[in-house]
Amino acid sequence: MNEIIHEGQGRRAHIKSPLMRESLMDRKVLAASDTQDVLPILPEVHVVHLGGASILDRGKAALVPLLDEVVRCRKTYKILLGVGGGTRMRHTYHIALDLGIPTGGLAMVAGSVNEQNRYMVQALLAKHGGVVLHKDHYVVLPLWLASGMIPILSGMPPYHYWEPPTGSARVPHYREDFGLFMVSEVLGAASMIYVKDEDGLYTADPKRHPTAEFIPTITAQELLARNLPEMIVDRAVIESMLHARNTRRIQIINGLKPDLLGRALAGEPVGTIITAPKTTKEVANVR
Ligand code: ADP
Ligand code: MG
Repeated sequence: MNEIIHEGQGRRAHIKSPLMRESLMDRKVLAASDTQDVLPILPEVHVVHLGGASILDRGKAALVPLLDEVVRCRKTYKILLGVGGGTRMRHTYHIALDLGIPTGGLAMVAGSVNEQNRYMVQALLAKHGGVVLHKDHYVVLPLWLASGMIPILSGMPPYHYWEPPTGSARVPHYREDFGLFMVSEVLGAASMIYVKDEDGLYTADPKRHPTAEFIPTITAQELLARNLPEMIVDRAVIESMLHARNTRRIQIINGLKPDLLGRALAGEPVGTIITAPKTTKEVANVR
């Protein structure tokens, strides 16, 4: 609980805080900020991300049956839908790279394709309560969810010109899968489900390596240690899961088998499940 200190004959009140006169550059001060569990803001919401290249670019054949399943499941679960950019975004990256545009500039233009996809999904879901969720409308999410609507948001995180350079690539490191992961993390969502066009994670891309083996469950730690050359979700998601306060489990399912969405929402271990078990130190830190 906050301790209030009264100074100057009880006239001025200060809130005593360990950060009061400290520098945020100090590691000990920073570590002291990590001693509590965090609040799940909307623990009932399920975050469902539709892959740009793997689902949206496939058009009607893949998207319509999947959205029918979303509408069916929405009667039981509160769902927040995310959309990726897909192939058109990759073209944009290609042109921007050729022009010599830096990472922040790429991140600035990347979101536009997501936004187009978001409006297309909204058009399809409008009669079922599909609404576009702009980032500054997060605060009205409880209202939309309570009234049975299906908020749809762009996956690209809004780093824009502030996207950090990574050193190893000029394409932004923090992309749509990560953006949705962060939505799930900050809301303390019930689940984070990635809908793609494969049954889940394999030892290599199954489209190019038919002998690749399916991985039903793996920890984030193990997956990072394997250092696979290619993955079905952005690496930034797996890296961030290690530090997550809420979202320590993600699930990847095949959207070309739409009934899997209902099964994943019901908690069935369909597809691939990636978990990041807390370390003993993390467990001990939580008061
Ligand atoms: P999206 O835009 O939908 O996120 P991506 O191409 O980024 O699409 O990611 C999904 C694709 O990743 C799948 O279609 C699959 O072919 C490919 N992929 C690459 N590596 C793997 C892997 N290790 N396991 C499964 N799929 C993989
Ligand atoms: Mg992707």
